[in-house]
This record gives sequence, C-alpha cells and structure tokens, in this order.
Amino acid sequence: MLCSGCGQDNPQENRYCGHCGIPLVKGQRVVTLKDILDEGILKEGATVSCKLRGQDVFALLKADGTIDYKGTAYPSPMDAIQVVRDYPCDGWNCWHTDDPQTGRNYPIAHFRGAWRRLKGG
Ligand SMILES: [Zn+2]
Repeated sequence: MLCSGCGQDNPQENRYCGHCGIPLVKGQRVVTLKDILDEGILKEGATVSCKLRGQDVFALLKADGTIDYKGTAYPSPMDAIQVVRDYPCDGWNCWHTDDPQTGRNYPIAHFRGAWRRLKGG
C-alpha cells in the first residue's frame, strides 16, 4: 500500500508506513507539494523551516514542488528532512511555513489537509 505521506510502497498488512511511520489509510492518494502549489494554497519561493537542535534551518519551496536545501532540490519533504536531520522523520510535520492568506506559521501537513478538503480524497 502506498503511503499518502511519503509515497513509499508498503506490504498490504502494514498499518503504519515503514519509511515515515504515519498510519496507512487505504485509498488515500499521495498529495505532493506540487499539488498544493497548483491549487495556490502555497506559493512558489516560500521559505520552509524546521528545527535542528534548537536552531531554525531554512529551505525554499520551488515551483516544481521540490524543496531546495543548500542548493540541492529534494523531491519530497521526507527526503529534505532526512538530509537536514540525518534520520528519517515525518517531513510533513517537521517543515513549517507561513500561510500566504493569514501569515500564520503551520506544519506543511496543514496545507496538505487544506488540499484534501478542497479536492477530496
Ligand atoms: Zn510514509
């Protein structure tokens, strides 16, 4: 079963993703940052940040949905967070960015939730 968080394929009997650890929900499609950008929920060029040992680490959200960290484009929040922290974790909840509408800071999973409410699934 494909993980809706990171896109990893998991054995059917798994209840949690073996890669990022989130619960697996049958039939839930994989939402990418590109999907979220395409709906205008987030804007290209947005700064995303995460914490590393109490410090803020910054990266850039690119138009193609990749995350640019120190000049390298990573295909998903998972890949980018793994490079920053050197261990796998749920990049959708580790990376934060400002809501372009309200200016409030949220984990990027918040915007994936907004996409699902908008598009269903
Ligand atoms: Zn996963």
